[in-house]
Amino acid sequence: MNLLLVVACALIDVDGRVLIARRPEGKALAGLWEFPGGKLEPGERPEDSLIRELNEELGIDINPACLAPLTFASYAYEDFHLLMPLYVCRRWSGTVEAREGQALKWVRPARLRDYPMPPADEPLIPHLIDLL
Ligand code: C5P
Repeated sequence: MNLLLVVACALIDVDGRVLIARRPEGKALAGLWEFPGGKLEPGERPEDSLIRELNEELGIDINPACLAPLTFASYAYEDFHLLMPLYVCRRWSGTVEAREGQALKWVRPARLRDYPMPPADEPLIPHLIDLL
């Protein structure tokens, strides 16, 4: 089975809320909420990929020193096996905005279960609850 590497990040604001983004119409798993991030490009390191994706999607700049690995998702979808490290980040520069028209929400970790997520993302929630 093909392996797909995606890197995701939980941005955490000063109130301890976490940013989630809704997958837009036309994409796989449209309408589900996820931790922002994206696919690794060939030759990219996970942190560099995440910094690039969050700049493209949210318009923010992140210093690599502000990214901390928390856990990772491993989930077998029908067509591929997804491996997805989850980082956390509490400091960035710029203001978070939806650069790709996606809905965004800042959510308390205990309320994350109110938002339907892809099956790979759901097991990450308890790790965030423990952290925060
Ligand atoms: O975002 P993108 O469509 O490039 O992601 C590729 C695949 O990885 C998605 O179709 C989805 O199955 C999976 N994915 C996920 N959780 C995420 C991001 C992607 O399960 N947070």
